[in-house]
Amino acid sequence: MTNRPEILFPLHKSLTSLDGIGPSIERKMRGLSIEKPLDLLLTLPISGIKRELVDTVFMYPSGRYVVVEVTIVRHQPGRSKQTAYKVIVQDKEVSFNLVFFHVRKDHLNKVLPVGEKRIISGKLELFDGIQQIVHPDYIIQPSEKIEIKRFQAIYPLTAGITQKIMRKSLHSALQLLPELEEWIDPSLKKSRSWPDWSKALKLVHEPTSEEAVAPTYPARERLSYDELYAHQLTLAIARVNNRKKVGRKTVGTGDLVASAVDELDFKLTKSQKVSIEDIKEDLAKPFKMNRLLQGDVGSGKTVVAFLSLLSAVEAGGQGVLMAPTEILVQQHLENLRPIGNKVGVVVEALTGRDRGKERDRKLAALLEGKIHILIGTHAVFQSGVHFLDLRLAIIDEQHRFGVRQRLALGEKGQSVDVLVMTATPIPRSLALSQYGEMDLTVLTDKPAGRKPVKTVIISDNRVNEIVLKLKKAIDKKNQAYWVCPLIEESEVLDYTAAEDRFKALRANLGEGEVGLVHGQMNSDEKDEVMKKFSEGEIKVLVSTTVIEVGVDVPSANIIVIEHAEKFGLAQLHQLRGRVGRGTSESSCILLYKAPLSENGERRLSILRETEDGFKIAELDMQMRGAGDMIGTAQSGLPRFRIADIYHQEHLIDIAQKDARLLLEKDPTLRLTKKGNASRNLLWLMGQEQAFRLLSVG
Ligand code: ADP
Ligand code: MG
Repeated sequence: MTNRPEILFPLHKSLTSLDGIGPSIERKMRGLSIEKPLDLLLTLPISGIKRELVDTVFMYPSGRYVVVEVTIVRHQPGRSKQTAYKVIVQDKEVSFNLVFFHVRKDHLNKVLPVGEKRIISGKLELFDGIQQIVHPDYIIQPSEKIEIKRFQAIYPLTAGITQKIMRKSLHSALQLLPELEEWIDPSLKKSRSWPDWSKALKLVHEPTSEEAVAPTYPARERLSYDELYAHQLTLAIARVNNRKKVGRKTVGTGDLVASAVDELDFKLTKSQKVSIEDIKEDLAKPFKMNRLLQGDVGSGKTVVAFLSLLSAVEAGGQGVLMAPTEILVQQHLENLRPIGNKVGVVVEALTGRDRGKERDRKLAALLEGKIHILIGTHAVFQSGVHFLDLRLAIIDEQHRFGVRQRLALGEKGQSVDVLVMTATPIPRSLALSQYGEMDLTVLTDKPAGRKPVKTVIISDNRVNEIVLKLKKAIDKKNQAYWVCPLIEESEVLDYTAAEDRFKALRANLGEGEVGLVHGQMNSDEKDEVMKKFSEGEIKVLVSTTVIEVGVDVPSANIIVIEHAEKFGLAQLHQLRGRVGRGTSESSCILLYKAPLSENGERRLSILRETEDGFKIAELDMQMRGAGDMIGTAQSGLPRFRIADIYHQEHLIDIAQKDARLLLEKDPTLRLTKKGNASRNLLWLMGQEQAFRLLSVG
């Protein structure tokens, strides 16, 4: 294992070694994911402010930052501590107010003595027709030679962290910057006018104009490139590593697959057949398979997975299918086990809830080869789980798992073939860069006979109307999902919203007709509710977004999504994908909380107009501004701190080529100057997992 280079040690010191940071601020910084000076340095300003030097604020527009000399006229304390404390001041033309909250009177008297002159800087506002500056950033005596920064960085903040703290600690962190060997090709650097790494950080943290906070600023662009390049280098290393790995030839007889296909009550689509062939060929090769199966929601990935697993069983091996939630594991088990039984293949599930004797029994059976196909949550990759002869591992809904976990899986079984499946409809160029180390298969068509889902957008003050319609619909034997949104990422609040809705619907539709499922329930309870819903005993299933991925109840044909405006488009598309799976007409009701913003309306209309996941992803991307982290998190794309993958696709391309080229020339990253320099970058960008892959290879 490689150790972190000494030259980078200062950047990994504790935060408290910086000016202005004590243990309490250190703790609060975690709210910005800042744990060491390096993190601080990689937290770039989100914007900047310009301070205008003016003689008077008379007629000066609100919202701007000014620097102005004033004479202090009088103090007007607030009636209580909660009300504003005003200090009336006069510049060359007009008088205006300085406003303070929760500030000690004697302190203000000292810094703003009546009759004296002071230089003030802050944001100018208009309140009740009078100009004011709330909590000026600077109060300086004219004789003091303190320089007011005319342009200043604005940082993202979190509770307890102010701009002042950020600026001060960054100033101190910038002193720690080492001079590092360059990892970027000189020609690229020159053509883009990129500065050195340490210079680039100084430039972005000490901006002197608007340009310096724009993503196109060369110093910022360079730092984006660094981040993308480090990521691509990791993927490229994984790719080379995979290609080197000797696999086993797994050649099935085709018998089990053929019998299972006979048992299906539908015909495979053309793309399903093609994918199964692709995978079969990969399995038969003496190399390790590493393939991504991409297919929109409802395109039928599960059956492709199952038939592929059967190929492995035909060859005398075992297979494993990993899914992100217990609900999904249960569902896969219920769908696949009956077919397994018919063709003589043992299908079993393993999740975190298997404990004690039950778990021991399953583990023993697995080791003896008595279980052919294991379905489970990530529990299937815990230590203690051993197969007799594992040949194929499949990860369902891979976007729920991170790149790290994907790479870790690749290391697990030396020669196990790996297939990952995802419904994330991302444009091909992004897919290639995100899954740069993999081969790609796409399910392009959907099973025949699907009717389009009718999507409507309705204000939530018409929710009673919807409930009435729902009542009529369930009387006619229809079934519905009712999804409540994630409230501020808090599972507890989340759950309360769903619980309230559940109670209200039960009162309206009847006790036995409505079920509730959410993340705080234990697995057995969840299963029971899901089972009742899929068997039609429950007509309406109220849930949080736990149903988002992969849940398949073909008889459900209505989905109501509350606060639809709060969801990302990709997620709404996934949710809507829960219906339209059977042969009956389906509908999706997007309830929004009025008033809907113009942008919100445009986004929701995209869903109304198309069901094509790729098209939705593309439009979503066009509409999204830089740094929309929520959307990024939901789409399963890797999170970048600096780079903006929606607008810097061109940089990804360059980074990918660079990374692959470097590895060809310098497979150990020890032979060339660029290779060694790139090692530093991997450390800086938290991609040290790459070294493990390098040493494995
Ligand atoms: P996803 O790709 O979203 O995981 P699933 O594998 O859950 O989709 O399949 C969605 C539904 O379509 C399931 O009920 C499945 O049985 C059904 N299905 C899959 N393939 C076909 C097909 N070729 N023809 C008809 N129905 C199919
Ligand atoms: Mg699925």
